[in-house]
Amino acid sequence: MPHTRPDPRWSFEVVRWTLRDPWTTTMSTSTYRETLFAHVRAQGVRGIGEGAPIPRYGEDARRSQLRLDRLRPALSGISPWRIEETRRWVARDVKGEYAARAAVDIALHDWAGHRLRVPLYRLLGLDRDRTPVTSFSIGIGSAAETRRKVRAARDFPVLKVKMGRGVDETTLESVRAETDVPVRVDVNEGWKSVRIASTKVQWLARRGVEFVEQPLPAGRLADVRRLHRSSVLPIFADEDAPNVAALPGLVGAYDGVNVKLDKCGGIGEALTMIRAARALGFRTMLGCMVSSAVSVTAAAHLSPLVDYADLDGNLLIADDPRRGVAVRKGRLILPRGPGLGIVPR
Ligand code: MG
Repeated sequence: MPHTRPDPRWSFEVVRWTLRDPWTTTMSTSTYRETLFAHVRAQGVRGIGEGAPIPRYGEDARRSQLRLDRLRPALSGISPWRIEETRRWVARDVKGEYAARAAVDIALHDWAGHRLRVPLYRLLGLDRDRTPVTSFSIGIGSAAETRRKVRAARDFPVLKVKMGRGVDETTLESVRAETDVPVRVDVNEGWKSVRIASTKVQWLARRGVEFVEQPLPAGRLADVRRLHRSSVLPIFADEDAPNVAALPGLVGAYDGVNVKLDKCGGIGEALTMIRAARALGFRTMLGCMVSSAVSVTAAAHLSPLVDYADLDGNLLIADDPRRGVAVRKGRLILPRGPGLGIVPR
């Protein structure tokens, strides 16, 4: 009997990326990051997807890879056109591994785009001319480091500044010594009381800050509601908005939500989340983890749907062999090639 290869054929790999600068938030400092890749090949066409495991939710790239490797025989029996079915099926089996789910879902979207020879934004019915500007993120560092990073980011019309480690005032003063562009502040759950958060928000509002993301630890919605009542700045949820099911509970506490493919499990889930968020009256932002062009470009294809973008994760790594979405004076420029439009660098 002739040996027949499975179609679709799936493979998964973990890639370790070197960061341009050590990356510090309230959660950790790191000099490298690992992300998970899914590769699918069917009908002579390839698709690629990437997911960044989020340590806060206990995710790990190698464990995600093992889980997906176990699913390979079953995945090889599902047509790559059946994206919805595959997504539900993978979600059932790798519960909690959102990066794994995102990698598979993105690979199938990339595959479909290549197979149909259309870019992903077109497959999704979106307008390439409607992409927002992206902010560029400044991790927590010394005053001198912050000033250097802000100078290096001078092409970006908006900055996202990480706070919550006790050097907030010095950080913003360092930023303002270099630039007066609008600043968005991401606290990553770092302020521990409504009183502290409230004082910080008032101080930030006088210094050209547009909004504040996840000021208090996730799960303290009564506190966020109290902060929200007196807040002079809009407040966005990130850690408090892991998936679509969380959104109704955030009404009255937050003004906007940060949607990430890695956090919710891919393009399909992110579309659901963005639409639900808009229906509930939230402003919407697309964010990302530190990851390569594959994951960031996938998110960028959805960006015509949202009010704000923070899609700079690939700009923070030093050794990406591929390129996809470009940034020109802060604006996201989507590639016109099929699928995600990823090409070798
Ligand atoms: Mg955040």
